[in-house]
Amino acid sequence: MTLLDDERDRELLRNVHPPDWTNPEHRDLYDLVAIGGGTAGLISAAGAAGLGARAALIEREHLGGDCLNVGCVPSKSLLRSAHVAAEIRDAERFGVRAAGPVEVDFGAVMRRMREIRARISPVDSAARYSGELGVDVFFGHARFTGPRSLEVGGRTLRFKRAVVATGARAAVPPVDGLADAGFLTNESVFDLTELPRRLLVLGGGPIGCELSQAFRRFGAEVTLVEQAPQFLGREDPDAAAVLRAAFERDGIDVRLETSVSKVARGGPDGAQRIVSLASNGRSETLAVDAILVGAGRVPNVEGMGLEEAGVAYDPRRGIQIDDYLRTTNRRVFAAGDCCMATQFTHAAEFAARTVIQNALFLPTKKLSSLTIPWCTYTSPEIAHVGLYARDAEARGIEIDTWVHELADVDRAIAEGDTDGFVKLHTKKGTDRILGATIVARHAGDLISEIGVAMAGGVGLGGLTSVIHPYPTQADAIRQVANAYNRTRLTPTAKRIFEWIIRAKR
Ligand SMILES: Cc1cc2nc3c(=O)[nH]c(=O)nc-3n(C[C@H](O)[C@H](O)[C@H](O)COP(=O)(O)OP(=O)(O)OC[C@H]3O[C@@H](n4cnc5c(N)ncnc54)[C@H](O)[C@@H]3O)c2cc1C
Repeated sequence: MTLLDDERDRELLRNVHPPDWTNPEHRDLYDLVAIGGGTAGLISAAGAAGLGARAALIEREHLGGDCLNVGCVPSKSLLRSAHVAAEIRDAERFGVRAAGPVEVDFGAVMRRMREIRARISPVDSAARYSGELGVDVFFGHARFTGPRSLEVGGRTLRFKRAVVATGARAAVPPVDGLADAGFLTNESVFDLTELPRRLLVLGGGPIGCELSQAFRRFGAEVTLVEQAPQFLGREDPDAAAVLRAAFERDGIDVRLETSVSKVARGGPDGAQRIVSLASNGRSETLAVDAILVGAGRVPNVEGMGLEEAGVAYDPRRGIQIDDYLRTTNRRVFAAGDCCMATQFTHAAEFAARTVIQNALFLPTKKLSSLTIPWCTYTSPEIAHVGLYARDAEARGIEIDTWVHELADVDRAIAEGDTDGFVKLHTKKGTDRILGATIVARHAGDLISEIGVAMAGGVGLGGLTSVIHPYPTQADAIRQVANAYNRTRLTPTAKRIFEWIIRAKR
């Protein structure tokens, strides 16, 4: 991340890495040291200090980690601007005429993003953590020197417990010429001050999909390249299909089962890069101005003395943990993107809460007991919780699947948001909810109702009695539950009801 010399970025820096910061005098022994000042490290350190433990937090770059600086916050800020542009372009559908063609001021969009980042940053600030929360905040690269000690900025900190929360970074595929031609990742894309005219997005995961849509809606020509037959590979295929149609309407050139085989600098028509694509034995070249790599993440595990600490790790899968988030050194725990397959801010937060319990008290809390939903913030959004149908099949669990289309939901019809659905899986013959996918404008908000039901052990039948305000898109969930309840009416029960009604006439 390159910060600009403007008030917004100066404020961000004052919070997340004050230029005049002096590391505190260290204590003899810490109850807990968190390595990495992203969500997992921040929550671990704050939680421990809040319980009266002597806690230290070490960050080598910017507090807030990926989420605040180069992840969730900037990407969601850009997406909001992008969706506003799309709504205005689409205004005539709602009987509203916008004067003239929509113009996106990319510089203003990026300034707004930097303003939001700065505005949110006090929550993760060094001043708040060291002052209000009582955490010793150290800036510098942390490196274990043994199983119970580490070094930062020339000082040795001894600990009873440590938590590795060093996050992950963009994986860069070994494409011929890519490094030489230059490319963007989430680390640099939010530094842009000018909109690339032609953008190639390499990788159709959540980051690639969100940013493809954002840049297309800003007016760039976007080609999204994904080597698998479906983008958002782990999502329900029906959900990906709805988004595919939305991308086509946006004018994103989606290339599935396609890989980038070579990149070269320069090209015709002022293009800055020439990209060779290979798809099912066919090849073609494409002239683009920028390449954004969103092809997965690799954990930050190198150069931090994990070997000295006796902490086992895999360079691709990250730090080896058990269900209690313990590493192979019983005094060292890990949380967040450096060790978990579910790489989200809220997952990192709840893993950190699990670490606080297990590191400072008895190790009783399991990662596997968490119900973790997630969402891709495209338009429409795709949100999920629990099992997919293929997971159930792989585990030999028979399921019933319940679907309600948004095209049959009054609020969705009224708002012109009919692309999407609620799909819910229950254990066959029961109302036990195993998983759900929602595709809707605000699917990320709607999925929480199902998360609450799953975490609280409420079955699908129980959701029929949850009264939703009319009209809301969330009512689709109740309608799925109603569909389930209707199947509960056996022919015998139906005959008895009919008999009672007749008798009362
Ligand atoms: C573009 C993008 C969009 C995203 N959008 C969302 C979203 O909408 N919702 C969501 O839930 N998630 C989203 N994510 C994922 C989310 O950002 C991560 O899951 C989350 O930040 C993980 O937190 P963490 O604490 O594990 O790691 P990080 O946030 O990566 O923090 C790790 C920190 O450790 C520091 N560090 C590393 N090594 C050392 C060392 N040796 N010494 C000292 N410090 C070190 C790093 O500098 C970093 O600050 C997004 C990610 C990206 C890239």
